[in-house]
Formats: sequence, structure tokens, C-alpha cells
Amino acid sequence: MVPDYTITCTRKLLLARNVYEFAFTKPKEFSFKAGQFVLLDVPLLDDPSDIQTRAYSLASAPHEREILFLIKLIPGGRASRWFEESVGPGSQVRMRGPFGAFVLHPHARKDMLFIGTGSGIAPYRSLVLHLLQKENKRTIDLLFGVQSEQDLFWRSLFQDIALSHPNFSLHITLSEPSDLWEGHRGRVQAIAPIIAPDIAKRTVFICGNPEMTKELKELCLNEWKVEKKDLHVEGYI
Ligand SMILES: Cc1cc2nc3c(=O)[nH]c(=O)nc-3n(C[C@H](O)[C@H](O)[C@H](O)COP(=O)(O)OP(=O)(O)OC[C@H]3O[C@@H](n4cnc5c(N)ncnc54)[C@H](O)[C@@H]3O)c2cc1C
Repeated sequence: MVPDYTITCTRKLLLARNVYEFAFTKPKEFSFKAGQFVLLDVPLLDDPSDIQTRAYSLASAPHEREILFLIKLIPGGRASRWFEESVGPGSQVRMRGPFGAFVLHPHARKDMLFIGTGSGIAPYRSLVLHLLQKENKRTIDLLFGVQSEQDLFWRSLFQDIALSHPNFSLHITLSEPSDLWEGHRGRVQAIAPIIAPDIAKRTVFICGNPEMTKELKELCLNEWKVEKKDLHVEGYI
């Protein structure tokens, strides 16, 4: 039986265009591995007795005191409307889990490349904080792709981590940047081999929309020769 919890929202923060961070209380008995997700019960706004579940990655690390979710709103979506209009400090939510195999192998020692687009960055907050808390010395590159400057969030969070951990680097790429943008331009598919020319020797994690994850998975296996056992993919279907 998968455990079932009631969690209470403590904070709701608008981070970027259509992107919220939600903090919830963490039940004492709840434990998980960095990279896993949970299922939340999502009532229909117009008929709360009509419940469906939606999957959300745990953005907080296992050692943190609260549970964090990063929610990207999809216009007209059931959960998106509910999160935006109905969930806030004091709201109680039913959660089941944890689930998923988008986790670190305990004996893996290769350098890491984490690739995420949009809300697909959520599990990397957990994975990066977890790895660095264990004083990991492997190189960790995080490649974060969004459309434009308006869609960026957690930039200073990851930049601050990079300042205190020389083995960690954040790389941002924008597919539709303004003229002022001085960083990478283009899709993560084009930028990944530039920031990690040794990609074949790395453990690679890919998370985000299913078209991107599928395309990158094929590139990793067929073009860049990443070993299958070192490739982890989570499609946000
Ligand atoms: C393992 C896993 C982990 C996930 N973790 C997160 C997370 O941490 N943060 C997060 O924000 N989401 C995450 N998702 C996605 C999340 O579960 C929902 O699918 C998302 O919030 C949309 O739900 P909704 O009820 O608002 O939209 P729905 O009512 O389910 O869909 C509304 C419409 O939007 C379309 N649609 C759904 N998703 C998308 C999309 N991504 N892009 C474009 N159109 C879409 C649907 O086809 C439908 O037409 C995760 C999904 C999986 C499978």
C-alpha cells in the first residue's frame, strides 16, 4: 500500500510567468529519495467531489524541513486552475507517494549532467541540494532551458550554490531571448554537448515535456553514446 498523507500549504510564491512555488508541511513519517514525485488529489473547482490525481516532483531535498513544489500553470488545466485560484496558506491537500525511479544510483561515481526545461527543473533542486549536502566532489552541470527571461526562476538560488560549490555549474539557455540576453540561446538539445563535451562519460538526467525528453534521449543514446544505464528520463506527460 502506498502511504497517504494530508499536507498543509504554508507559502505560495509567484516566481515567474505562470510559475509558482508552493511550500507545504512535511509529515514526520514521510520520507523519499531526491528526484521522486508524489500524487496530489485535485478537486474540480466547480464540483469538489470530483477528484483526479496529478503527479508533482518533490523540489525540496529529503533533508529539508518542508515540502516544496514548483508548479507551472497550463492555461485551463484542472490542477493549474485549482493551484492558482484555490490553494494558498492553510489549504489542506491529500498526497500519496513517493513514486519514481528518477533517482541517483547509490554507487554511481560519474560526473553528472542534469537537463530540465520549464517545470522540469523541479527535481533538480532536490537532487543538487541532496548531492551537495553529501559533500559530493563530482562535477555537476545543470542545464536549464526556458523560452525567455520572463520564464526564468531559481537563478540566484542555483548561482549562490555554484559560488559555494566549485564542482556545480548552472547553464541557462533561452529559446526566444530578448536582444539584451548574453547567455546561451537555443534549445537544450543544441546546448548540452557544448557545455558537456564529455557527455558520453557522464550520468545524464533529462526532465520536462515529453517531446523534448524523447528527442534528447535518442540523441544521448544514438549520437552522443551515453551508456543506457547512465541515462535517466522523466517526461511530464
Ligand atoms: C512524474 C511527473 C512529475 C511531474 N511534476 C511536475 C512538477 O513538478 N511541476 C509541474 O508543474 N508539473 C509537473 N507534472 C505535470 C503535472 O502532473 C500536470 O500534468 C500539469 O500540472 C498539468 O495539469 P493540469 O491538471 O493543470 O492540466 P490538464 O487538465 O491535465 O490538461 C489541460 C490541457 O493541457 C494539456 N497539457 C497538459 N500538460 C501540458 C504541458 N506540460 N504542456 C502543454 N500542454 C499540456 C492537456 O493535454 C490538456 O489539453 C509532472 C508530471 C509527471 C508525469
